[in-house]
Amino acid sequence: MTHVFLKKKISRRIESGHPWIFANEVNSVEGDATGGATVDVFTHDKKFVGRGYINPKSQILVRLLTRDKSETIDEAFFYNRLLEAWAYRQKIGYTENCRLVFGEADYLPALIIDKFNDYFVLQTLALGMDRWKPAIVQALERIFRPKGIYERNDVPVRELEGLPQQKGPLSAPFDTTIRLRENGVDFYVDIDGGQKTGYFLDQHDNRRAIRHIVKDADVLGAFCYTGSFEMHAAHYGAKSVLGLDISAGAVAQATRNAELNGLQDRCRFEAVNAFDVLKQWSREGRQYDVVMLDPPAFTKSRETIQRAITGYKEINLRGMQLVKRGGFLVTSSCTNLVRPETFLETIQLAAKDAKRRLRQVTFRAQASDHPIIEGWENTNYLKFLIVQVI
Ligand code: SAH
Repeated sequence: MTHVFLKKKISRRIESGHPWIFANEVNSVEGDATGGATVDVFTHDKKFVGRGYINPKSQILVRLLTRDKSETIDEAFFYNRLLEAWAYRQKIGYTENCRLVFGEADYLPALIIDKFNDYFVLQTLALGMDRWKPAIVQALERIFRPKGIYERNDVPVRELEGLPQQKGPLSAPFDTTIRLRENGVDFYVDIDGGQKTGYFLDQHDNRRAIRHIVKDADVLGAFCYTGSFEMHAAHYGAKSVLGLDISAGAVAQATRNAELNGLQDRCRFEAVNAFDVLKQWSREGRQYDVVMLDPPAFTKSRETIQRAITGYKEINLRGMQLVKRGGFLVTSSCTNLVRPETFLETIQLAAKDAKRRLRQVTFRAQASDHPIIEGWENTNYLKFLIVQVI
């Protein structure tokens, strides 16, 4: 077994149990350091820290899989971890659709598995986890007898690990346009061509949170993707719903979803750039009862946080201007680099510029199948805010 020795001064992150160990935190490596190999990590004075996998090509040199010295990393380990992850989701009330594995928070760093009823979509985002893909697939087969398993490893972060971008079935080939039902609304999900794993499960509970404010309302939803918030709004009794997305493919899918639910009369979608349109419509004085914003992560690196914050401020300012007095703004941010406090401050700055006062209805994070671990910033990433604009 390869031994990795940390420097004398250990970061707060490692002390708080976070599974990442950066190359610059390591003093020496003894033994096989081939990418993907299982290694034991020790403090400078040889106290066991944990066991994980190494990748000398990555800035994150080791990702820990366990802090238990007696635990072996083998097929059975992955089977048991998946069983535990499923037991946890069932315990907190999930039955059909859920994020079955949320990487670090399930102590399976760099592994994402979304369960869409009988279908599973997975991402192995680090070399050491990618190596165990056959074991993970086998465990899914054993536990769930799925109708299909698909990999959506067509993501650039894999290149930081020296891994190729790829996607395709990991089970017998199957029709990748599947259907799921969320909060009583039906959706087509394209697990091959859709964004990320095909559907954003993290807003599951937040979509339900709009239930009362959208009743009899004229609703505008920007960054709608396949229309999940918009369909919920129509389902909960909105008078009219208009969804906007820059992707023509997403808009086509959203339109199909409206038809699937018989909501096409009240729910329309347009392929436009939301930045341009929100600005133009707010200048023209258009007004809605509810405006919903769910933009993509405007930044993936610390260097561009300020630009991202400017982007959030701009769209929220426009969003508020489009809300009738007494109406509601529903707004999200999905990058962990913008902390919850910063997000709230940004919204306040936008309100000041818009000369509006806000009354907070709810402020929360992602659904609980994406557990947050205190101190592990990347597990606390989604901000979801509803305010009344007065
Ligand atoms: N609300 C969706 C998820 C939105 S993801 C849901 O709950 O499922 C963000 C979306 O913003 C993507 O679909 C992307 O195509 C879209 N997008 C990115 N830039 C945009 C822009 N400038 N104008 C409109 N849409 C944009």
